[in-house]
Amino acid sequence: MASNTPLSIPAPPKVGMVSLGCPKALVDSERILTKLRADGYDMSPDYAGADVVLVNTCGFLDSAKEESLEAIGEAMAENGRVIVTGCMGKEADTIRARFPDVLAITGAAQYEDVVGAVHEAAPPARGEYIDLIPQADPDAQTKHGGLKLTPRHYGYLKISEGCNHRCSFCIIPQLRGDLVSRRVDAVLREAEKLVEAGTKELLVISQDTSAYGVDTRHETRMWKGRETRAHMTDLARELGQLRTAEGRAPWVRLHYVYPYPHVDKVIPLMADGLLTPYLDIPFQHAAPSVLKRMKRPANEAKVLERVKKWRDICPDLTIRSTFVVGFPGETEEDFQYLLDWLDEAQLDRVGGFRFEPVEGAAANALDNPVPEELKEERYQRLMEKTAAISAARLQAKVGRTLPVIIDEVGEADEEGSIGATGRSQADAPGIDGEVFLRDVAADLAVGDIIDVTIEDADAHDLYGVPVS
Ligand code: SF4
Repeated sequence: MASNTPLSIPAPPKVGMVSLGCPKALVDSERILTKLRADGYDMSPDYAGADVVLVNTCGFLDSAKEESLEAIGEAMAENGRVIVTGCMGKEADTIRARFPDVLAITGAAQYEDVVGAVHEAAPPARGEYIDLIPQADPDAQTKHGGLKLTPRHYGYLKISEGCNHRCSFCIIPQLRGDLVSRRVDAVLREAEKLVEAGTKELLVISQDTSAYGVDTRHETRMWKGRETRAHMTDLARELGQLRTAEGRAPWVRLHYVYPYPHVDKVIPLMADGLLTPYLDIPFQHAAPSVLKRMKRPANEAKVLERVKKWRDICPDLTIRSTFVVGFPGETEEDFQYLLDWLDEAQLDRVGGFRFEPVEGAAANALDNPVPEELKEERYQRLMEKTAAISAARLQAKVGRTLPVIIDEVGEADEEGSIGATGRSQADAPGIDGEVFLRDVAADLAVGDIIDVTIEDADAHDLYGVPVS
């Protein structure tokens, strides 16, 4: 055979993916895609061109399950070769009853199983020329090879999986199991590589960030010559030492923090500019009797006092939270207690939910369910209250100069003026408000952090102009 016969290298199989649910599920999707890229797969931008489609589902609320089933249905209709993973993987029977032909079903964070199922459904093309880690779109891949679904300038850092609590409305522990913390040096190495690759903002996520390392008895590892425990305060301290290529501390946001006593220790790091002055604490309610029935962790009476102390130490601290209204047995007094508590706490950002009985949750067996109309009425009252608090707190920022990270830069209008959208340190991507900018520099780029004078505010967003 002629030696110059061109080698025929088979085209790599293509995987389509849809990722539903919370940031934790997004991180799972990123990990799965990273592994598949390393195994020689290409990503397909649509279902039709894919050899197999992965649907990463969310199974938290019944509405999310329905959305997941719809996504599976769409992938089945458009492609027909579908693998289901994620939280709904625990409900294989429900999925199979509706879609008996799905190729495989795996659970949340079962990376090896899902990658194995993809290998079986669309075997990777093997050979010395194609077993290399493929070159990726530089915008879509970090330097360390992690394929990110989030934009390059921010990234989620997942520190643990599962949860040791048993909140009565929640089925996450059934879906994801008890707390399993990652090694602290592995988390910090991932954070360092993300920052080296251009990430300016790290979002620390888990089910319960304050409980990080409880399962490993806060195992100690060496990091940069220092003994570092798998503990939220040590992790926060070391994340605060990272520096971007420009020599700045990246923004580091702590999500899903429960107000255990050691949270007090990270507030000075925020005051010193080493951590972003932002705490996402899912309080869920304020009335003691409701919290008791919810079986919430770190449910203690002094939280208002502590919030006040935190703000004394770090006046720029933003507190975000979520609340559930219409929990079984919630009385008008309980709900009014929540509204009064919010008046005191003056939380900056609040998300509200109407209680939804999730199949399998202990709360479903509780007495005195709240009628739907009453839930809706309380929800509207909660949103009105929190919008008024948010509007007043944002109004107080008018006239100040704040650092803003740029998420999007627009095109020049007829007068040559360019607008941009970004976020202040008080705004986590996707869940909080935005900062709308006018007259930005022509060379402004996504991921830049610039100083902005705030000119106006409404209930959720700010408006400003870059400091010239
Ligand atoms: S802390 Fe409660 S709500 Fe959060 S994941 Fe654990 S059990 Fe669910």
